[in-house]
Formats: sequence, structure tokens, C-alpha cells
Amino acid sequence: MITRSPALLQRPDREVRPLAIAASWQTQLSRAIRDPRELCRRLGLDDAWLPGAEAGHRLFEVRVPEAYLARIRPGDPNDPLLRQVLPLAAEGSPASGFVEDPLAEADHTPAPGLIHKYQGRVLLIASPACAVNCRYCFRRHFPYEENSPSRAQWQQTLDHLRGDASILEAILSGGDPLAASDRRLAWLVARLEAIPHLKRLRIHTRLPVVIPDRIDGALLDWLAATRLQRVMVLHINHPGEIDDAVVAACERLKQIGVTLLNQSVLLRGVNDDVDTLAALSERLFEAGVLPYYLHVLDPVAGAAHFDVPDDEARELVAGLREVLPGFLMPRLVREIPGEASKTPL
Ligand code: SF4
Repeated sequence: MITRSPALLQRPDREVRPLAIAASWQTQLSRAIRDPRELCRRLGLDDAWLPGAEAGHRLFEVRVPEAYLARIRPGDPNDPLLRQVLPLAAEGSPASGFVEDPLAEADHTPAPGLIHKYQGRVLLIASPACAVNCRYCFRRHFPYEENSPSRAQWQQTLDHLRGDASILEAILSGGDPLAASDRRLAWLVARLEAIPHLKRLRIHTRLPVVIPDRIDGALLDWLAATRLQRVMVLHINHPGEIDDAVVAACERLKQIGVTLLNQSVLLRGVNDDVDTLAALSERLFEAGVLPYYLHVLDPVAGAAHFDVPDDEARELVAGLREVLPGFLMPRLVREIPGEASKTPL
């Protein structure tokens, strides 16, 4: 059933003011809320939400930076931004078909921190950490401790890339790759660009959305300097996530020639209606970002309550096609383990 929600396209006039947004992104990252009690208190949620939040937190810890918290409507447990970060007791309920490694990534890890699933591109786990813990994350059970290479182990990964001339693109992922320091990222990118057959550097990240100050001079320096073509794929699910600071961060990236794309996950109670998805595409384009993918949920254990059935997803996209120009239409896809690419629905 597709619902339309006329009131959802604007963010609230009442916002939670951050206690203090520190100057550096590192400080903001270190001060992110990690206590479910604190999250409920800051947002004025009824005490009845606390036991569930604590139960969900025990399965996958809560993490919400202040800059993101400021965009959440206080006192509203159904706020679409809050739903993405608030742990719930439902995360502990088993659901048929929802598993710990829904994309079977463990079968495609030839070296620590390296996932090689698709022809022509590889994925590097550049950081095990994220700035925000999204409750629907398909890597919420990922064994990061086994995939956090030391510099010596990175050599193994770089050797793999050097030895396979069919690899044209290196994708930095995580966790969130931009949670790593600029020094570490600059070191890695310098080694990647020394591999002659590599053409592109793609970065999948949510950090410019949840802590826009991450796009600072130090990051822009190494990103502007590389010979590789640069693509950044943001991860934004709702138009209310794009505030002025996010737009400004996108502008800084555009100024150094980074191509900006966005991927979203279709999430029950967050963006499962035509108006929200249309507003998201419009807002992305205003920020200079092209909609790329709309993923159906990967069936990860703990996230079944976000699931939208395929038929409903197709119906939503048909409705979206009626109101958006073609270039603002994200492609509706599912990732199926073992397939050579994402599968269009
Ligand atoms: S930022 Fe990305 S990797 Fe990190 S928890 Fe959210 S969805 Fe998962």
C-alpha cells in the first residue's frame, strides 16, 4: 500500500539544538551520542521507548552525531530521521530469510579489507567505523576486526589490485571510509594512483551528510590532488537529511570536480511513499547530487521491520516516474549474492 504524506517534505520548525557543534569533525565524531538513554532524553522521547532502545543498542550500538541530531523533530518517535538511528526491541526478533551476512561478502574476501565481487571494480574497507549507526545497515554484523588491515596487510590488497589489470575502479567503503584520518586516506590513495590501470576512485560515504564539516580543507587537498577520476556516492534516504550545511559540503566537493551521486535504501516508515522520494530527488539535485540507486532492503538480521515488499517498491517507483523527469529517477535495485551486478527490479 503506497501512502502519501503531504506534510513530510519540510523539516520541522522546532529542531533539537545541538549542545555544541565543535569546530573539528574529529571532535564531533568523538562526541557522537552513544547512549540510548541520552538519545531518548535529548529528543524528549517518552520513557516507554527506553527499554527497546537499550535492547537494540545491545545488538548494535547506538551512534548519532550532534549535527544529525539537530535535524530530528523532538518528541516524535516516528520522525523519519530518528527511525534510522533509534534502536528498537524489534531488532532482536528473528525473521525468516534475514541473516547476518545477507550479501555473502565473506565468500569474496581475497585479502584483509578487500571485497572483490564484481568485474572491473573492488571494494576496500578503508575504515571499520561509522559516524552514525544506521539500524538497517547490511554490515551491522560484519567482522570488521578481521578486516581492518595494517599498512603491511594493505600491501597484500594493493598487490591484488596491481596483479589484475581488469580492475579499473577502487571503491573505498567501510564502515565509512571518511571516518579514517586524512593522513591514512592520502597514504592509501597515493598507492592506488600508482597502479597504472586504475582509473577511478569511488567513495561511498554518509559522513558528509551526518557531519558536513568532514568536508574540510585537509580532505579536499588529497582528493583534489589525485590523478584518479573521483566519484562520491552519498547515502541519503530522506530529504530532511539535506540541510544547508550538507548543501555547502556538496558545493565544496563539486568545486574540485568530484562527481556526486546518491544511493538510498527504501525503508518502511522513512521514505516509503512517492512524495518523500520525489522530494528527495528534487532536493538532491538542488544540492548538485544525482540520484543513482534506490535499494530494496538487504535482508540483514535485525532490520526486518524496515522491509518494503518488492511489489510495493515497484508500485512506488511507477508513481515516482509520473512526477519526476527521467534524470531524477533512481534505479530500483536489489543486490543478490553471486550476481554479476545489482539486479534491477
Ligand atoms: S553509515 Fe553506512 S556502513 Fe555505516 S552504519 Fe550507516 S549504512 Fe552502515
